[in-house]
Amino acid sequence: MAELNLDGIGMTSRRTRERLIQRLMDQGISNFHVLDIICNTPRHIFLDEALAHRAYEDSALPIGYNQTLSQPYIVARMTEALLSLGPRKKVLEIGTGSGYQTAILAQLIDQVFSVERIEPLQELARSRLKLLGLRNAFLKHADGTLGWPEKGPFDGIISTAAPRVVPQDLLNQLAPNGMLVIPVGMGDVQQLQMITRDGDSDSFTTAVLEEVRFVPLVSGTMS
Ligand code: SAH
Repeated sequence: MAELNLDGIGMTSRRTRERLIQRLMDQGISNFHVLDIICNTPRHIFLDEALAHRAYEDSALPIGYNQTLSQPYIVARMTEALLSLGPRKKVLEIGTGSGYQTAILAQLIDQVFSVERIEPLQELARSRLKLLGLRNAFLKHADGTLGWPEKGPFDGIISTAAPRVVPQDLLNQLAPNGMLVIPVGMGDVQQLQMITRDGDSDSFTTAVLEEVRFVPLVSGTMS
């Protein structure tokens, strides 16, 4: 399949990617490890061939089914936030989408579990992760509002779709000192929140990072 071709526009254009990294640094991303992984991960294979030439722009791009591949800045910001209190070993992602954020996480974290409600998107994501040889990412077609209780608890959870209120199941599946990074709110603009479980207690500390635009977290699944 042409869209899974690793030799494409982006692979050959190292300078285009370096420009993107410079831009992310200018916007305040400072975790060198995160920047390095973004620089070395081909984003164009996560897009339809017709859009591949735009893969290294700092913008969100459509992936079909009314969904979008997040802007690189947001992927970087959320990943940096997830790692801000130290390394994470087991992370859950809600909303696999194209699989791009999953691929970034799988290069920074031992085990990545990712749930997607739209089956065809999940299947494509699976083939891309396989192509990149990322065997530590485990995918499930399910409603991520419920988390993935059999695999929890997680020391990090990242949601790339926005609920109106934080789902209790996600909070329940956070390990002691676990961190949840999630856009929250209704309408076009939401708040990106960073929620930490205080030790092994049932209390949580919330910090608001910035305003973001995500697709809504929708209950149920679609085949
Ligand atoms: N991380 C993705 C972003 C995709 S957009 C990427 O890098 O491409 C958000 C995704 O969340 C969409 O694919 C959407 O189908 C999915 N989603 C929305 N509600 C969901 C739910 N309840 N459970 C699982 N996935 C969900």
